[in-house]
Amino acid sequence: MLVAALFSDLFTERLLPLAIARASHSALHPLDWGGVELLVIGVFTQIGLEFYRSGVPRAFSRASAKDLAARGKPLENLARIDRKFIAFSQCAIVVMSFHYLQFMAASPNVLWKPEQMSFVNTCLPLPLFFVVYDAFYAPFHRALHHRSVYAYVHKHHHRQVVPTRGNTDAINVHPFEFLMGEYNHVLTIFLVSRYVMSIHAVACLLFLVLGGTLATLNHTRLDLSFLRLPGTKVPIFGVRAHDTHHAIPNSNYGQYIMLWDYLMGTFRLHPDDPGSTESLREEAKREKKIS
Ligand SMILES: [Zn+2]
Ligand SMILES: [Zn+2]
Repeated sequence: MLVAALFSDLFTERLLPLAIARASHSALHPLDWGGVELLVIGVFTQIGLEFYRSGVPRAFSRASAKDLAARGKPLENLARIDRKFIAFSQCAIVVMSFHYLQFMAASPNVLWKPEQMSFVNTCLPLPLFFVVYDAFYAPFHRALHHRSVYAYVHKHHHRQVVPTRGNTDAINVHPFEFLMGEYNHVLTIFLVSRYVMSIHAVACLLFLVLGGTLATLNHTRLDLSFLRLPGTKVPIFGVRAHDTHHAIPNSNYGQYIMLWDYLMGTFRLHPDDPGSTESLREEAKREKKIS
């Protein structure tokens, strides 16, 4: 009893005030952040990764009517290099999240107070974030596929022809590519908040959570698509679009959305989609047989 009371006193009278003082100091002086903040962010990031790893596929499995058919042989066992790259990515996410939050806390264009939250500064920036992110990512990803550099960096990610592991397959990329992709999130919120509009911190956090969710879904077999570009068959987000990229790599370079592929002329329908190159070829074959 005495020991419990002692710990309780220690917690309420010493540790709690210390933690509150440190948190207030961190909030006011984001440029002073160091090891303690990195540790706290590290803990939350690993919880987030666990949510992506097991929570996201489970949460969305009911929304998917069927699984995408495997077109090729999945990478069944992870090699040592896969495990090394995955471990690097898990650490790099912590450091990127640190800088992402540090930017949010330091920027005068990111609003934090709940009463400052509005539709304009919280909901409008979200689609903009994805458009700006992929404006950089899609051409970068396309460049990584250039035959002069492909073997050195991006080939590793394409060892997996049939993504099945969700987040684990998503972060199983070369460290250079991973860092560029992660810090593109920081660049995106900087550009939008500096040149387009003031944004609320909640929008920035939702961008990270939704982004991680979409990247995870892209590497599952769940056949999920959201929205379409008006007047086209192009899904704004579609797991089958990224699945097509893993099977036919010179297409669908966007990480989150297919807008830039549509504009670059690199969007490709899934082979099972009506109107796809493969389905038209099958149709022509059938017609030839009949005639
Ligand atoms: Zn991929
Ligand atoms: Zn690729």
